[in-house]
Formats: sequence, structure tokens, C-alpha cells
Amino acid sequence: MNVFIIHAHPEPKSYSSALKDTALNYFENSGNKVIVSDLYKMKFNPVGDKNDFKKLSAEVFFKYQTEQVNASKNDLFSDEIKIEMEKLLWADLVIFNFPMWWFSVPAIMKGWVDRIFAMGFSYGAGKGVYAEGIFKTKKGMLCVTTGGPESAFKENGRNGDIDKILFPINHGILYFVGMQTLPYFIVYGAARLNEVERETKISEYETHLSKIKEMNILY
Ligand SMILES: Cc1cc2nc3c(=O)[nH]c(=O)nc-3n(C[C@H](O)[C@H](O)[C@H](O)COP(=O)(O)OP(=O)(O)OC[C@H]3O[C@@H](n4cnc5c(N)ncnc54)[C@H](O)[C@@H]3O)c2cc1C
Repeated sequence: MNVFIIHAHPEPKSYSSALKDTALNYFENSGNKVIVSDLYKMKFNPVGDKNDFKKLSAEVFFKYQTEQVNASKNDLFSDEIKIEMEKLLWADLVIFNFPMWWFSVPAIMKGWVDRIFAMGFSYGAGKGVYAEGIFKTKKGMLCVTTGGPESAFKENGRNGDIDKILFPINHGILYFVGMQTLPYFIVYGAARLNEVERETKISEYETHLSKIKEMNILY
């Protein structure tokens, strides 16, 4: 299996980074191929704009999706974007590994999605969405750390239901482009846990990863 991990944490010694390394080691040691896009390490530019394209179809009025479609048809994406797109095409399993920032992914990861899940490449312009999506043979999974404790992410918790918070990412991004979404792995209150609890969660993540083949698909 080809595994592509997209990782967004500015600190290599962070717990989120340890989870990324856990998945990397787990899959490599079990005979799979792994590629990691460590977005901060790459200094990935998250801003989608005219620089995404080698040439524009319209110089007067810039419409991002129109240019994405044009670039998809005419091989006009910048090299930086093409490299990430190739990784995506190669992958059987795509893991988004990140700390929850403002109920979402860090901006650097959102920008990666804006630029790489381009119209014409991953959806639209003749390509379907959701169950008809272009990436329907791929699996997608989220690995998330949070600041808040698990109790805060229940239906009646102060942050609200975690499934609703992750819906825009899991459904609106991964499933939108067709991926079969796997149950996510969450470490709640990562910074509040003690050393033993954190190590236990790392083992639980390895167990989670070992069950991927038999997991039910969420969407
Ligand atoms: C802009 C912003 C917005 C945010 N918005 C939200 C929000 O909406 N909701 C929310 O709940 N939280 C939010 N947070 C908090 C954030 O989600 C948490 O701080 C983050 O998820 C904690 O994970 P971490 O990897 O950064 O933890 P870290 O602080 O890096 O890790 C915790 C501890 O684990 C230790 N550690 C590292 N590796 C290992 C290992 N292998 N084994 C054991 N221990 C290890 C580290 O040394 C550290 O002491 C926000 C934070 C920011 C900066």
C-alpha cells in the first residue's frame, strides 16, 4: 500500500509530530511505502493565487477555479503543485495529521487543500464528486490532536460534537473528492496528558492503524 501523510505542525518535537512519526514507522515497518509532506518543514506556501500557474487563460479577470481547470487540461500548474498532485495520485491511503486550530486544520494545511485539490484535477470539469469522485479508490483518514478534553467535544459539551466539527474536513474535503473516509484518530487534550497517557495513546494509534483494512467506511 502507498501511504501519503500530510503533516501540519510547526514543531518537530510536538506530540502531533510524534503521531506522524508513529504512522510513518508503522507503515514502513509493515512493508508499505510512505511519503510525508511535512508542510512547515517544506515551508509550503498556502496562498492560492496566480503564481499557481505557469500561464493564465485570462489576464483581465482572475478566476481561480477557471485557471485550475485550464491548468489541469494544459499542464500549466507550477512545479510545486504538480509534485504534491503526483503524491496524491500515487497514494492508496491519505492521512491528514494535524493539531486542531480554531475547530479546523492549521492554515498551512487548508492552503495545501485549496491549491492541490484543484478543480479539474480532483473534482469538476467532467469529474464527479462524493461517491462518483475521482479518488474513490483511495482511503482518507484524519489524525488530530486537540487542546480541549474529550468531555468538551460531546454533543452537550462546550465545544459541541466532534463529528460535527470534523464534518467539513472529513465530508467536505476527503469525501468530496471521493475518498473512502476511515474512522479518525483523536488525542484529546494532548498537552494535558501525562507522559504515560501520551505513550498509551501512541500505542492505541498503532493498534488503530493495524485495523485499517477491516474498518467500516464513514462516508
Ligand atoms: C491557533 C490555535 C488554535 C487552536 N484552536 C483550538 C481549537 O479550536 N480547539 C482545541 O481543542 N484546541 C485548539 N488549539 C490547541 C491545539 O489543538 C493543541 O495545543 C494541540 O492539538 C496539542 O497538540 P500538540 O502536538 O501541539 O501538543 P504538544 O504541546 O506538542 O505536545 C504535548 C506534550 O507531548 C510531548 N510529547 C511529544 N512527543 C511525545 C511522545 N512521543 N511521547 C510522549 N509525549 C510526547 C511534548 O513534549 C509536549 O510536552 C489551538 C491552538 C492554536 C495554536
